[in-house]
Amino acid sequence: MKNDPKLIQSFLKEKQQQHLYRKAHISQSPQQPHMTINGEKFLTFCSNDYLGLANHPDILNAFKQAADKYGIGSGAAHLINGHSIEHQLLEEELAEFTGRDRALLFSTGYMANLGVVNALMERGDMIFADRLNHASLIDAGLLSNAKTKRYAHNDIKALEKLYTKNTSKNTMILTDGVFSMDGDIASVKQLSQIAKQHNAWLMVDDAHGFGTLGQTGAGLLEQENLNQDNAPILMATLGKAIGTTGAFVAGSTELIEYLIQTARTYTFTTAMPPAIAAATRASLKIVQQDSERREKLNQHILQFKKGADELGIELMPSDSAIQPIMIGSTEKTVRISERLRNSGILVTAIRPPTIPEDTARLRVTLSAKHTKDDIVKLLDALAVHL
Ligand SMILES: *Cc1c(COP(=O)(O)O)cnc(C)c1O
Repeated sequence: MKNDPKLIQSFLKEKQQQHLYRKAHISQSPQQPHMTINGEKFLTFCSNDYLGLANHPDILNAFKQAADKYGIGSGAAHLINGHSIEHQLLEEELAEFTGRDRALLFSTGYMANLGVVNALMERGDMIFADRLNHASLIDAGLLSNAKTKRYAHNDIKALEKLYTKNTSKNTMILTDGVFSMDGDIASVKQLSQIAKQHNAWLMVDDAHGFGTLGQTGAGLLEQENLNQDNAPILMATLGKAIGTTGAFVAGSTELIEYLIQTARTYTFTTAMPPAIAAATRASLKIVQQDSERREKLNQHILQFKKGADELGIELMPSDSAIQPIMIGSTEKTVRISERLRNSGILVTAIRPPTIPEDTARLRVTLSAKHTKDDIVKLLDALAVHL
């Protein structure tokens, strides 16, 4: 964008005309199904707080106690003197939970993705990425200067074909675990086989699976029985089902030690506050011990899918907490989202460039914290406004 106020103005105007203008709403309550936003009360179906832990009293207490003990800011990067005992214990517990040698904390998932991909890939290398990967994985590839080839969504044959033409020695297969705007899951077992066959890195971003999938909530790789050998790089975020903030990468000791030496988004940034690490430790305990939350979430998913089916509402092929309704036209999607909002229900319209052109959708997300009645209300509203 050239330094010319007129160009900025016309850009903004164009975005408004195309129904692509974005702005934040101001929430005045904790993250939970019933919220006050811009002064109005809403029943919300758009957060990533899938287990309802963002405002859990035990986690809040752990946060407060740690804040009393350690203060607020970590004050420095991990490798200076910002790495507290709470960070250390959290890393050890995350490694144990995910069945990996080691885990490494990052301040956000976006930064974790940038850090890992840039540490392992460089000019001349090749990244094979699912077409529907999260923006942070796309940016990670761009920043690394490696070449990226995108394969059609979950299309293993297309990926194999790309490998027949590949000449790079260092390759990485990069994928979301649960696709953030579609809700379906990557064929990680097959991806793992291909990665083995080609001696490639496999990196799985399990932002939406961690906490919600697997017997103990350790995520998609637990559900699919993929250990560190079969899926060497696991990245997951702490700001979604875990209800706090931040992210981690888990893998072999060598990988983590290598990342500590080389991942610039680990080295050159302030460590997350120790109280956040303490709160996350409390959250992990709940995630592991309280499988009822996952059961409840799954009941809500089934209830929503069954109800939508009875109403003739077509959903996308997803069994996760992300249950998008594909509309297509951006204008129509925004209109429906506004009508739902006028009836007190918040469901976000997802528009390009978050997703490809002509695939605008309502991204319904469900939480263990919703009630059966909340979901009935959503279905009733969809029956009227879709
Ligand atoms: C949310 C998300 C991220 C980014 O995580 P933050 O901690 O919010 O920066 C990365 N990958 C995927 C798939 C996500 O959904």
